[in-house]
Parts: sequence; C-alpha cells; structure tokens
Amino acid sequence: MYQQIKILALGAVEAMSLGTGAVPKKITVFVYNYAATPSEVLVQTEAEAARIYQLGGIEIQWLNCPLSPQEVDQFPACQVAPGPTKLALRILSQSMAERVRQAEDSFGFAMFPEDESFAIIANVFSHDAEALAHRHGMRHGLVLGHLVAHELGHLLLGAGSHSSQGIMHVPWGVKELDMIRRRSMVFTSREAERMRTNIAARTAIARASHAASHRRVMIKQYDGVNLSLSEVSRAEREAQEIFPLRWNPECVDDRTAG
Ligand SMILES: [Zn+2]
Repeated sequence: MYQQIKILALGAVEAMSLGTGAVPKKITVFVYNYAATPSEVLVQTEAEAARIYQLGGIEIQWLNCPLSPQEVDQFPACQVAPGPTKLALRILSQSMAERVRQAEDSFGFAMFPEDESFAIIANVFSHDAEALAHRHGMRHGLVLGHLVAHELGHLLLGAGSHSSQGIMHVPWGVKELDMIRRRSMVFTSREAERMRTNIAARTAIARASHAASHRRVMIKQYDGVNLSLSEVSRAEREAQEIFPLRWNPECVDDRTAG
C-alpha cells in the first residue's frame, strides 16, 4: 500500500500571461554612498552612467539609499531586497577600499555569486576615481560615472567581460581618459545587445519568482484513507467552484510510505 500525494498549484490567470509582450530593458540601481561622495558629484556620476547605458538601449532608475537604520523608514523604496533587476552599487570609502582591494591598480570590482545566480553587487572606489580625475584635470563625477558604468557592465555581461575596446577595456590610459573626456567611451554594440538580453532574462526570472511568491498557493493533499480517484476528483471540483482560479494538478507518488 502506498499513499498518494497530490500537489495542486493554484495560480491566478494574470500570472500565466507574464513573460509575453515587450521585453523591458530597465534596471534599478540601489546606491549606497559609503564614501560620503558629495551630492553634486553623485548627480554627475549617475547622469554619466545613465547616458552611457541609454546609448545601449538600457534605462537605469537610481535609488539613493540610506546607510543607517535610523533613516530606513524615510526611504521605503530601498526596503526591497536587491535582485536580478535591482542591482546594488556600493560607493566605498578609502578605508573600505583598502580592505577589499584585489589589485593595486583596481578602481572597483563586481561580485559574482558562487552558485552562478545573477550577479547583483558592484563596488567602486570613489577616492581612487577622484585622485585619477584630479591628476588629469577632470571632474570626479565624470570619472566615477564611467567607473560605475564599467562595474555595472560586469554584472550584466558576466565574468571575464573585459574587452579590447570601449568602456570594458582596462587599464585606462591616456587614450581612454581622453575618450572619457570626449564622452566617447561607451559599450560596443555587441556588449549592449548582450546586456539587453541579460536584462530580459533577469526580468523574466524576477517576475516568475515574484509571481511564485505572491500569486501561487501550493496545497499538498495527503490521502491517508485510500479514497477512490473519483472521490478525490469530485472533492477537487467542489473546491475549485468555491475558489475559481486556475488549478494545475501535479501528482507525486510517495511509495516509501506505509
Ligand atoms: Zn573591470
């Protein structure tokens, strides 16, 4: 004798239509300004990075998020956890950068999860960007904005995404800094296309997990008294009439029981 376990996944019809229609190319970036970078620098940083992404057909919504628990309630939009389309940008102070710096000439780094889920956290070293900008008579926000675009690019392009040209090229020498000054340092069209594809995949995953967590109810049904299948089906039909949503029955036999 074995018990039959039936699993009914109950989902609203709207959830089933997700994934169709236009593919959004939009990301949100939560900004954590640990470096206390002045607001006018931050404004230019975000504007420069947004311009670079816009040229690649990607729109960025910036959310400047608080660092202290006391301020959290004033920023309700930041209370959502980062996810596939909600990236976290940490602008690190000099002391933080010194602790996490992986290479002497590094200006930031992106973090890649070991479980191969989507990368969502990028870090930039604001003080190093400022020093580089000053050495070359450039504005802090201009250099930091390009640095942010580069590190976010790592998140959206994946590991090993340095390139022989454009904004994913490293290191930044005189030629690259001149391109930044002239605002011609951008993603290649192939990179932009890869990022748009990646964002579409991230959006689909984010929506699916949102739908799964908010629009689905799983009912595990344990038949411990050996009801006949027709009796079980009748009970399900009755329940469906009371709760008129889409039912997706899946059967799982647990043959180890009993
Ligand atoms: Zn890089």
